[in-house]
This record gives sequence, C-alpha cells and structure tokens, in this order.
Amino acid sequence: MKPIVRLMNLLTDGTAPEGLSRQEFLKTTGRGLALGAISSAFAACDNPSETKTSTAAKTGASAPKLPAGSPPAEVPDEVSKPIELEQIKAKTEQQEGPTPTPLPEDMRVGYAVVGLGHLTLNQILPAFGACKKSKVVALVSGSPDKLKKVAAQYGIKPESCYSYADYDKLRDNPEVKAIYIVLPNGMHAEYTIRGAKAGKHILCEKPMANTAQECQSMIDACKKANRKLMVAYRIQYEPHHRMVRDMVQKEEFGKIKSIVANNGQNSDNPSHWRFKKALAGGGSLPDVGLYCLNTIRYLLGEEPTEVVGYVHSTPNDPRFKEVEEQVNWLMKFPSGVQASCATSYGHHEDRNYKVLAETGWIRMDPAFPYTGLKLETSQAQGKENQLTQHNIADKDQFATEMDHFSECIMEDKVPFTPGEEGLQDQKIMEAIYQSAREGKPVKLESVSKKDAFRGELPKEV
Ligand code: NAD
Repeated sequence: MKPIVRLMNLLTDGTAPEGLSRQEFLKTTGRGLALGAISSAFAACDNPSETKTSTAAKTGASAPKLPAGSPPAEVPDEVSKPIELEQIKAKTEQQEGPTPTPLPEDMRVGYAVVGLGHLTLNQILPAFGACKKSKVVALVSGSPDKLKKVAAQYGIKPESCYSYADYDKLRDNPEVKAIYIVLPNGMHAEYTIRGAKAGKHILCEKPMANTAQECQSMIDACKKANRKLMVAYRIQYEPHHRMVRDMVQKEEFGKIKSIVANNGQNSDNPSHWRFKKALAGGGSLPDVGLYCLNTIRYLLGEEPTEVVGYVHSTPNDPRFKEVEEQVNWLMKFPSGVQASCATSYGHHEDRNYKVLAETGWIRMDPAFPYTGLKLETSQAQGKENQLTQHNIADKDQFATEMDHFSECIMEDKVPFTPGEEGLQDQKIMEAIYQSAREGKPVKLESVSKKDAFRGELPKEV
C-alpha cells in the first residue's frame, strides 16, 4: 500500500476550528465510491502497530498535532495505482504518461473560491475538473445572480454560496478547508487575514498584495492561525518551466550569463480596477511584469542584489492616470547573471524569455500564457548549432498548482511558493519603483541561500 495522503491531518490538524472528528469524517467518507476500501484502510490504521512514519516526520517539517495513536491514513492500492492500458503507439512516438490517479471526491481538499471574475470563471473553476486532490465546495461573490448561476453550473449547494458580507461565515462550513482568493490585488490582504481567522488555509492570487507591509501582515496572520499560505504562482507548477529550471541549474549549456524577459499586452477599459492604484497597487509591473521577475528568480533559485528601473506612461492617456504603462528594469544576481526585463500595458501581446548561456541558449516563446508554451534550445556542436524543439504536453497550470496546495495541507508541508515568496517579489518591485523615482540603482538585502523563500519542490508538475 503506497502512502500518498495523510487524511488524518484533515481531521485533526491542531487548532482547526472547523475540524471534524474522525467518526464524523468516516460518516462523510463512508458514502460513495471508495466506501469499502477507504473504511478498511482506516480500520487497518486503528492498530497502532501499523503506524508509518509521516512525510512531515521524515522531512523534519513541523509535525501536525495528531492525537496519540492516530496513524496517517493511506489511499488503498485500488485507488492509488494507475490503471494500465494496452499500448497503441509505436515506441518511436510520444507516449502518454500513466493514467491519472485522482483521489475520490470525498478524500479531496474542499475550496471556497472568492471572486467570480475572468480568472475564476475562465480558468480556475474549469481547472477543478483536472484536479486530483482538490474540489470546489463553496463560492463567494458580490453578485447574487452570478452566484446562483455559477453554483448551478458547478454543483455548489445554495447554503455554500456567500456574499462578501457573509465571508466570515465560512468558518462554520466544515467542507471548506482552503480559500482561493481571486479578488483585485488591493483586497488580497484583508481577505487572507479574515480567511485565516476563520480557520482556513489560504491560496492567494498574484501579486500577493499591494505592499510588502501587507504581505508581512498576511504571513503573520496565517502563522498566528496555524494555517498555510501559498501564492498562486502557476508558472512554478508548469512542466516547460520546470524543464528550463532543471537545464539552468544543471548548467546543461554551461554557466548562465544573461536572461531577457518580456511580458506585456495592450490593455483597455480605464474604469477597470487594474487602472486604479488602490485596487491594483501599480500598473503593468505587478500585474504582468511580475511573471518575468518571479520566473527568473525561480529558474535561477537566486535573489537579485541590485535593480535599476525606468517607468513611463503616455501623457494624457486616460488609462494611466493612477498606474504606470510600462516598466523596463535590470536585475543583478550574485552568480553574475544579469537579467533585462520589460513589461507594458501599451504594446501588442508579447510574452517570452531567453536564457543565454556559455554553449547554448534556451528560449520560451510564448512563455506566460495558460497553454501553448513553446520551448526551444540551441547548443553549440563544433561549427554547427543543434536546434531542438521540446515537445511537452500542456498541463492545466491551475490544477497542478491547486493540487500542490492540497497536498501541502494533507501532508503538512510548506508550499513551494509560500507567502515569503510573494513578499520577496513585492520587495523587489518596490525597489524597481524606487530606482525609477530616484534615477539610480537600488541595492537589495543580500540572500545567499538558494531557493531561500520556497518550500520543497513539488513532486509532480
Ligand atoms: P476580474 O476583474 O475579472 O475579477 C475580479 C472579481 O473581483 C470580480 O468578480 C469583481 O466583481 C470582484 N470584486 C470584488 N470587489 C471588487 C471591487 N471593489 N472592485 C472590483 N472588483 C471587485 O479580475 P481577474 O482578472 O479575475 O483578476 C483577479 C485576481 O487574479 C487578480 O489578483 C489578478 O492579478 C489575478 N490574476 C492571476 C492570473 C494568473 O494567471 N495567475 C491571471 C489573471 C488574473
């Protein structure tokens, strides 16, 4: 029997005010598909002599507070082993991976999604269909009509639909273990802090907040409530970018010298919150430019020591009364890598990066959309360059990201992109703005540890 999930964490995770007793949980999970198998797994676990070492114990992460003699539950083989299908493609063709092994509905982490705008309706709610460990069980919106419609579409119970005024009542919904905050940036801090006080784990969209101070208060609130906090950096849960990170860190093309990254799009609708400073925090930089910044930090695992930035907005353009149009900036890293980045709300869509190394280069273009990423490398081979196009199947980035967070909740692990990762980006963005204001480079706090702000690398992307 393969230990995948520690369900007991969900039941008895220390101070969780919404925690069900093991008996209550068994009653709930006793229904449905996995009834017999799961119940017998729990029954087998009743014997303390069968206790297995938890992942948290093995990694030294802070241990969950399980009652004495409560061993971790396991997913039985019937559910956890991939179903084997007969081969239909020649060995030379790209093969399908193992069949997915989703957890039964009753064993997944339940999410409340807050804010029913573009990202939620077009990406996040559909992505639950591709999730293996996460399910949507509640919605929060300011529009009763939208709530009713979306709830019907995704099978959410009427009593699990909340207005913003009722948000704190999530506390009393035991099905909700995590809250996914998909609101304007300026609302992230308030809703994270209130969500943690309601006893829920928080997955927060990027940018984490409007200021480093807000980010710190979100981290503090989640720590105080003993809840997990993760920033939804989908790129760090995506297979193309993971492959580039591996190439960079293994120095497959020698030492990295520089990285050039761009993420911009022509935006419209000056009345949208993205053009209001209080709700957006800034313009193109925290919205789309952040992808360049965060992805480069992810690829290198290093932190910049100095930045220099330039900000420009077209005069009299009604979109840029409160927030900036475009930002160009440079970052210096301890290894000597220099990164040059650009972002804009004023030019036609362009989203890519190129990593320049001693004996080759790596190019991803496009790099930052939800699907259709293209990865190409060039390697010097004698007098010729070997150009390779890497065919990697798209994965739903939101599904892998949510499942990672669910796994962290179930196994009591630090998320790969915890609040500290979002805080670091915010500090760097503030330094870029400061540099542009003052017209000189700005030094950043030196960080020598690699991946200093991240948890354990996700097993699966
Ligand atoms: P959106 O404008 O489409 O949706 C925002 C939602 O918040 C709407 O339903 C709106 O009604 C609601 N809302 C509540 N209070 C509001 C207020 N006071 N003013 C305005 N709207 C209010 O925005 P979106 O594109 O869905 O972005 C939401 C969040 O997701 C942002 O933080 C954004 O940066 C992030 N985002 C992330 C990605 C990604 O790829 N990870 C992509 C897009 C957006």
